[in-house]
Amino acid sequence: MKGVVKFAPGVGNVELRDVPEPVAGPGQVVIEVKAAGVCGTDIHIYHDEYSSRPPVVLGHELSGVVAERGPSATTFQLGDRVTSRTYFSTCGQCRYCLTGRPNLCNSRLSIGSGVNGAMAKYLLVPEGNLHRLPDNVSFLGGTLSEPLACNVHAVLMVNKPLPGEEVLVVGPGAIGLLALQLVKACGARATLLGMPADESRLALAKRLGADEIVLTTQVEELSESLAGSGFDAVLECSGSAGGVETALQLVRKGGRYTQVGLAGKKVSFDIDQIVYKEVQFSGTFAHVWQAWDPALRLMASGAVQTEPLVTHRFPLADWREAFATFQRHEGIKIVLEP
Ligand SMILES: [Zn+2]
Ligand SMILES: [Zn+2]
Repeated sequence: MKGVVKFAPGVGNVELRDVPEPVAGPGQVVIEVKAAGVCGTDIHIYHDEYSSRPPVVLGHELSGVVAERGPSATTFQLGDRVTSRTYFSTCGQCRYCLTGRPNLCNSRLSIGSGVNGAMAKYLLVPEGNLHRLPDNVSFLGGTLSEPLACNVHAVLMVNKPLPGEEVLVVGPGAIGLLALQLVKACGARATLLGMPADESRLALAKRLGADEIVLTTQVEELSESLAGSGFDAVLECSGSAGGVETALQLVRKGGRYTQVGLAGKKVSFDIDQIVYKEVQFSGTFAHVWQAWDPALRLMASGAVQTEPLVTHRFPLADWREAFATFQRHEGIKIVLEP
């Protein structure tokens, strides 16, 4: 089968290559991938800004059907519509594994970076990683279950917006638009900050429930109108230097700042603001098991819509154009269909 393979360390070194079809071992299943999302992490791996173990098939945001079951994999049936958690293996013995934080395990190997991922026709995962895709969630929408689980971890489990609070979401990419919907599901008011070039993303944000849209060109005005007050909580989903600075500027004293976006490089900011404002500063990395059931239920109920975020579909062979589209900041979620 063909796969989008990072074949050697360094910048680039990605191409469509023949890779052997996986065979399910004990407790494992093979998923026939119906759709695989292109994530910032894939782009970071392309640019050698995120660690990977080449040669490795990229991709960790997926939906598909169970195509093969290994010995003792008996929970799911062939043909079941599924999505998958992304940790292929963790050590199971460290402080983090034993306290429900396998996302922080030093030995974690994830699909799409440590072991072969979803940008190929077939994907091998432990059966325990599978989650059933709700009937009313399409394969396209299902590719966003992983980013939504990351957001449930960040927004509902760490930042925890309360009803009636004012929450700022920075960055109207896929992560920001999911975070926005979770903020609304919490009963808080959501303001989304984007750049003038983000016009179509911001229009979608409005349709998905954003109470206010603020452009980066309006930040000074907004800051003055807040008159020393600010947002109860901010979710920085852009991973950009400007986004970090603005989020720190607009969070109120004693407010909560959560860094969700990855920058892929060093970003400098005025750390004294965290001191002067007594900001509760947190970061969240990937997802934990507990985030997945809420994520899938929120998709099933329609409280979080994912399919409207899918703006581009490409066959696997056109992965270069898909990655280029992502890097031109066109659309929101770009999906490969192997
Ligand atoms: Zn991702
Ligand atoms: Zn561990």
